[in-house]
This record gives sequence, structure tokens and C-alpha cells, in this order.
Amino acid sequence: MKYKIIPVTNFNQNCYLIWCTKTFQAALIDPGGEYKKILIILKKYKLKITKILITHGHLDHIGAAYILSKILDIPVLGPHREDIFWIKNIKLQNKMFNLPCCKFKNNIWLKNNQNIFIGKINFHVYHLPGHTPGHIVFFNKSHHVIISGDIIFKNNIGRTDLPKSNFYILKKSIKKILSLSKDKDNIILPGHGKKTSIFEVKKLI
Ligand SMILES: [Zn+2]
Ligand SMILES: [Zn+2]
Repeated sequence: MKYKIIPVTNFNQNCYLIWCTKTFQAALIDPGGEYKKILIILKKYKLKITKILITHGHLDHIGAAYILSKILDIPVLGPHREDIFWIKNIKLQNKMFNLPCCKFKNNIWLKNNQNIFIGKINFHVYHLPGHTPGHIVFFNKSHHVIISGDIIFKNNIGRTDLPKSNFYILKKSIKKILSLSKDKDNIILPGHGKKTSIFEVKKLI
């Protein structure tokens, strides 16, 4: 498994290009905006992009998903259905986050405990609300990688001051992430900023 971070929007949102080194099949996770910038990078890497995965419905994570799904002719998977509030209120999000207007349409909502494959890489889906009600985290057990969206960052936890967010539920979700690692550390790839790890987060909390 390999990945490349493509920072997008004024929020420096980490769009991840993740691929399987055996099959060269790839996925984009949270293409939040700047689709042209993403396309230029995709051209360089010459991978077979098979899907777009979404952690949650905030506009800085979904902004370029629709247009890229049309251009690349690939499906959009996620977030969990509970994020429909944010998807229905994209216009409110335009104003709230001062991000350009866009459309969002997914092919499927993701469910807790589902498995997603990128080539031969398996990602387990966890529905972990708190930052948003339908927030999803992707966990790859064999490569020890967690794509955490906006639940946890290098030196901070996710925001809970936004509509439909809840600090106590978020804390529960963070505990779940921490429980994924017993003795072996796991890399955490967050929605913003530098990567961290379970062991680092345990020191923070
Ligand atoms: Zn968010
Ligand atoms: Zn974000």
C-alpha cells in the first residue's frame, strides 16, 4: 500500500490518493476541492482509480467528489447515511465554510463493519460519529493504517462546535479508534495536518 497527500481548499484538507502496489488500483479519499489540481497529480501517477471514498459530509471533504466521479467515471462511496443533514445543506455549507458551490451525489452510503477493497488492500469501515453524525473511519489492519477524517489530528481532536456534532459521542469514537491498536502502533492519517499514530494520541489524551 502507498499513498500521496494532496492538500486542497483553504482548509488544507488532506485528499488521499491510496493505491495497491500489486494491482495499481487506487482510490481517492475525501477529494474536498480543487479537482484540476487532483487531476494533474493523477496523470503523473498513472494508476487505475476505481472509487472515491468519503469520511464525512463537510464541504471541505466532498467538494470535488461529484465532478471527479463524472470525469473519471467512478462511484462515490460514503459517508454514512446519518450525514444526510450536511449533504442536504450544501448551500448552507457554502456560506458557513466560504467554499465554492458544488453538487454531491454518492452511489452508496457506507455502513459500520463493511469492507472496502482497493485492489488487494482491505479497509474496514467504522461508523464513528461525534464530529458529524455519519462520520466514517477506514482501517487497514495488515498495514496498520487508520484514515481518521476529522475525528483526530496530530495535536488535537475534532471540532464539536458545529451543528449536529457532539463532544461526548466524539470521545467515545476516539476511544474506539484507540482500541484498534493493542501492542502494535497504527499510523493515523487525518483529514488535516500531519500524520500521527495511536501511541502519540494516547499520550495526548
Ligand atoms: Zn469536518
Ligand atoms: Zn475537515
